[in-house]
Amino acid sequence: MQKSEYQEIVLQDVETFVKEEIRPLSSLIEESEELPKNLINKMAAKGYLGACLPKEYGGLELDPVYYGKFTELIGKACSATRTLVTVHTSLVGQTLLRWGTRKQKEKWLPKLISGEKIGAFALSEPDVGSDAKNVQTRYFRDGNKYIIRGLKKWISLGDIADLFIVIASNNGLITAFIVERDMIGVSTKPIKRMLAGRASHLAQVHFDDVIISEESSILGREGGGFDYIVSTALDYGRYSIAWAGVALAQEALDAMVAYSRKREQFGKKIHQFQLIQGIIGDSVTKIHAARSLCLKAGEMRKNSDEEAGIETTIAKYFSSKVASQITAEAVQVHGGYGCSSLYPVERLFRESKVLEIIEGTSQIQQIIISNYGLRKYYNKDIDYVNHHQKI
Ligand SMILES: Cc1cc2nc3c(=O)[nH]c(=O)nc-3n(C[C@H](O)[C@H](O)[C@H](O)COP(=O)(O)OP(=O)(O)OC[C@H]3O[C@@H](n4cnc5c(N)ncnc54)[C@H](O)[C@@H]3O)c2cc1C
Repeated sequence: MQKSEYQEIVLQDVETFVKEEIRPLSSLIEESEELPKNLINKMAAKGYLGACLPKEYGGLELDPVYYGKFTELIGKACSATRTLVTVHTSLVGQTLLRWGTRKQKEKWLPKLISGEKIGAFALSEPDVGSDAKNVQTRYFRDGNKYIIRGLKKWISLGDIADLFIVIASNNGLITAFIVERDMIGVSTKPIKRMLAGRASHLAQVHFDDVIISEESSILGREGGGFDYIVSTALDYGRYSIAWAGVALAQEALDAMVAYSRKREQFGKKIHQFQLIQGIIGDSVTKIHAARSLCLKAGEMRKNSDEEAGIETTIAKYFSSKVASQITAEAVQVHGGYGCSSLYPVERLFRESKVLEIIEGTSQIQQIIISNYGLRKYYNKDIDYVNHHQKI
């Protein structure tokens, strides 16, 4: 069987799974603010927790393009379940695959993919967000041991995770550690009443002089925590969030199309009003553009193109903005009902806002993209600046 044929079959299977197992639970998941363990286990049994990870560890080995489509399918039905994929599979699983030693990979990847262990990525802190190099969580060397001390905040899956990739600093030397929940000194406190991510088991995680006894618990090398681990993890995360944006925007569009075809005012279906048609026309166009950017980034990632990272950043920036715009328009099309939790657009509207904040805020993406543009499009062969003086 050709790889593309195999991947198509996997996606068809995912589509059925989403329809039968995730979509019917999405309201319950939101209300209970919990991802059912049973659902996590079913996803694990299908190999979905390792959708993009190698078969040798139990994964499905989808290439970046298919992994993106996979993320969209899950994200359309339930953001919390998609968060599981983004954090557990992308940020933790893919980063471990990229930088872990053979021993670390053999120890952790099969457990992550089988759902035996849940992973979380602990970078943000109460006083440190975008300026991530400034992490205040400290680590010290004590003989052949390391001691970690600090507090992490907004950690998705933090309340149910079994292992954390923790970013800590020793006088500016930033290092990533693999820390297990059952180590002495690790404690978590759930964060509730969030705008979005209510069922993502957000937590603050306290590391109270946690002793890491083995050097093998460092991910990558000492001092490589930012340039290698954080950069890699955020790159994987951004790719996932780019597709999450497409997912929320498409779900919102589907909902507004259905509603506008049913709702009547002034004796007409509301989709017959040109102002509503304008909203739908713009939404379709923006989603097509966002999906094209995601597909392009996916192809470039598949081909290890050296500009895949910046293309991913562009896709994430655009797609998360588009998701915010379209979900807001979907609420508008639904009128008062759009403000009610009886309709899904209210949840989509809330969930989309967060995509502009996580894995680097929109402003941070703009800075990165602008720096790229200022280099890439600086054409010294044409004198744009003094052009008018020569005319
Ligand atoms: C639902 C949710 C889930 C999350 N999950 C995780 C997780 O699993 N792991 C984790 O480590 N973190 C997680 N986070 C934290 C998230 O990564 C941070 O919120 C994000 O990095 C932004 O940091 P901040 O909130 O401290 O905002 P700040 O960095 O304080 O930014 C505040 C505002 O200032 C702007 N700003 C900052 N610096 C600049 C600048 N140089 N130029 C222009 N504008 C600037 C920002 O764009 C933003 O608008 C999560 C957050 C949420 C809400």
